[in-house]
Amino acid sequence: MQLSHRIEHLTGGGSDGWDVYHRARDLIAAGEKVVELTIGEHDIRTDPAILKAMDDSARGGHTGYAEVPGVAALRDRVADRVQACSGVPTTRDNVLITPGGQAGLFSAHCATCDPGDAALFIDPYYVTYPGTIRGAGARPVPVRTRPGDSFRPRAADIAAAIVPGAKSLLINTPNNPTGALYDRATLEGIAQVCRDADLWLISDEVYDTQVWEGAHLSPRALPGMAERTLVIGSMSKSHAMTGSRCGWIVGPEAAIGDLINLATHTTYGVPGFVQDAALFALDQGAELEAAVAAPFRRRRAQALEILAGQNALHALPPQGAMYLMLDIRPTGMSGSEFANALLDAHRIAVMPGESFGAAAAGHIRVAMTIADDAFAAALKTLCAFAATRV
Ligand code: PLP
Repeated sequence: MQLSHRIEHLTGGGSDGWDVYHRARDLIAAGEKVVELTIGEHDIRTDPAILKAMDDSARGGHTGYAEVPGVAALRDRVADRVQACSGVPTTRDNVLITPGGQAGLFSAHCATCDPGDAALFIDPYYVTYPGTIRGAGARPVPVRTRPGDSFRPRAADIAAAIVPGAKSLLINTPNNPTGALYDRATLEGIAQVCRDADLWLISDEVYDTQVWEGAHLSPRALPGMAERTLVIGSMSKSHAMTGSRCGWIVGPEAAIGDLINLATHTTYGVPGFVQDAALFALDQGAELEAAVAAPFRRRRAQALEILAGQNALHALPPQGAMYLMLDIRPTGMSGSEFANALLDAHRIAVMPGESFGAAAAGHIRVAMTIADDAFAAALKTLCAFAATRV
């Protein structure tokens, strides 16, 4: 039986960008030892106190259908958090709890784009973005950034990428894969383009607690933006709760009303015991968030020290998030060639930049997601390998 064009072409054909990751997994399955610096997941598990809150809630009976928009107390808590961070008045009516940020991204595109409309996004990008946009029935339109701009988008490039039928622009700060944090001037430029072209801004802020330099600014706080911005948030990265699947969309009340209707007809909400655990986690405040972020902050410092002692690679010091973007163009190899050769020679797996879009060609992304000693040793080996190739 024929399936829909949309589902069959979700990943746009060709490689899904995960070839090196799959090769590494195959080697591991065959009994080999591989250092994996590929996926964005903590090397710690969810805090036992959060798990206890989840267990208490489930055993207390919160196992039936939860309220579709989210448990009121969690919506209130998320609204308070977002208001405190951004200064924008926010109530529970501006909040929909979703099964992770990923479901939020999909729903936000469903809400802003009709089938065939164009949805802009910034390249390099989190690997799921184009497929998420296609899944929502829209056309993904990348806007390329430049390594020389630390991969921050220029307003003029976004404006130039606008095509007939463009309805939305998706940005991500702090950024996966580049570690870039968008400064005020960059965000003001983005906001101006959105206002001028009447675009929705979908702002993926799932790394907002992992900021190493500068301060996170939500574009929803900029003049005239609260009415056209949908913020995507998540417990995954901030609280090492990737498997719990709990996130949110924050936006104008009317849009959230329609998104609740979409949730009723798709996910039917998030498990109540997961939401209670998320509420408990958020109630622990910034201290817990800082503790979850601390290993990445440490490894970033380690990495910058190691990279300062070599000249085969150029590092883009990450300002946020759990990744290190390395410019391997001095080796003359593509990101994919480098990643495959590194895996062959040293059994170290990293992501080729090309997995994250054409703008990241000639780069590799290193996830800072293994123990400090092992991370430092792998990075030194990687640098020595690069030095043999320049
Ligand atoms: N957005 C970005 C930029 C990500 O890196 C990720 C996960 O890696 C997500 C969204 C999705 O996160 P989740 O669905 O676990 O909240």
